[in-house]
Amino acid sequence: MKQLFFDKIAYDRQVCDFCGTCVGVCPQDAIELTEADFTITERCTLCKNCVRVCPLRALEFIDER
Ligand code: SF4
Ligand code: SF4
Repeated sequence: MKQLFFDKIAYDRQVCDFCGTCVGVCPQDAIELTEADFTITERCTLCKNCVRVCPLRALEFIDER
C-alpha cells in the first residue's frame, strides 16, 4: 500500500529497495528512512528532488488536479 505525505508525495514500500538516494538529495534533510519505516517530516518543501532521483520510481508527485 502506498503512503501519502502532505497529499502530494506518494511512497510505495513494495517498490523501494532502501537505497537511500532520496535521502541524499533532500535539501531539507526531511526524509527519515530505515528498513522498517519511511517518513517525510514537516521540513519538506515539496521541491521534488527525491521524486526525480528515485531509480525505482517508488516516489511519485501527485499534481494538482
Ligand atoms: S530513492 Fe527510491 S528506492 Fe531509494 S530509498 Fe528512496 S524511495 Fe526507496
Ligand atoms: S520533496 Fe524535496 S524537501 Fe521534500 S522530502 Fe523530497 S527532496 Fe526533501
